[in-house]
Amino acid sequence: MQRTFDVELRVLSCERCGAPARVEETGGSVTCEYCGVQMLIGRRRLEPARLAHTLEGEARLAALRLQAGRPLPDNPYSTVRPPPGCESLTRSGLADVQEQLARRFREAAALVRAAPRVEHQRLLWWCATMLNQGYGMGGKHLERRAVLERAIEELRDPGFRHLLFVNLAGAAASLGALAAARAWIERCDPAPEDVVLDSAYRVGLASVLVREGDAARVRELVGARVGDVPEAHQYRLMFAMYRIHAHERLGDPDAALAAAAAIQRDPEVGGVLVEALGMNSLAPATAAALTRSSSATTPVGVEASDRRAPAEGPAPRTIAVFIAVALIGLAVVVGVALVAVLPALR
Ligand SMILES: [Zn+2]
Repeated sequence: MQRTFDVELRVLSCERCGAPARVEETGGSVTCEYCGVQMLIGRRRLEPARLAHTLEGEARLAALRLQAGRPLPDNPYSTVRPPPGCESLTRSGLADVQEQLARRFREAAALVRAAPRVEHQRLLWWCATMLNQGYGMGGKHLERRAVLERAIEELRDPGFRHLLFVNLAGAAASLGALAAARAWIERCDPAPEDVVLDSAYRVGLASVLVREGDAARVRELVGARVGDVPEAHQYRLMFAMYRIHAHERLGDPDAALAAAAAIQRDPEVGGVLVEALGMNSLAPATAAALTRSSSATTPVGVEASDRRAPAEGPAPRTIAVFIAVALIGLAVVVGVALVAVLPALR
């Protein structure tokens, strides 16, 4: 288990059946334990997930701000808009959806090998991202690693590769494999010019830093207040969660509560803040304070009728959490936490 995310190993999903196959970092020939196909896996490609940059420093931040704070449906790196034909596959983690995603993923890999157009690469990346999320929820760590590394192997676009390295870092961090998480995050582009790539990097690195106990650096990464750093719209809940956690850890409960109040005003994701903090073991004192203040203001009758809600189907609240988390898309941290939510959706 400790070696699941090791950078010194290569773990790739089988080209034919999708099962994980392991070889040394230098590559080699391997027979799939499940379907028996022989695969030749090369040494890991070393080109960095980094475009040639023209913008640096303040100029880069200014460019990012132009893309921040609103949905970016046409941004190829946004997970919010599924590729054509994948609209029904957004609930990763459900067994039949995972199965369909795995098939689409293998088809997409073949398509990218034959014709590596950007829309083909986007399909492969999107399927990998969703599968990663679902495997994370199900505790299938080796499968998670294998599908991410297979996608990185097949893709050429530095942005998609960057996002997948962020996912590998987040997955490793969630298992406590911090050295591996560091090794993967170092393969990312630390200064992208696209706000989705930049926000993903900040959130991924924050997930490592939180476990390393460096709250000051977390606060610097996500900003002490909304607007201090440019935030991609789809990551705003994650930014808020790390910001609240950092304020709490740095001994500033008022700033933590103010940051919580700011995100709670967001009509789409504000309502699930407390659950999301709890699921991710972030800012426990602030979450407890928010729970106390909301139960103090909730009319008794409302709470009682909630408790009497019929047991068929998931509670509306569970659906709300799921939708908010799905909006985040690239579930660096939240994917794992969804284990708690999913049984209700089955
Ligand atoms: Zn196989």
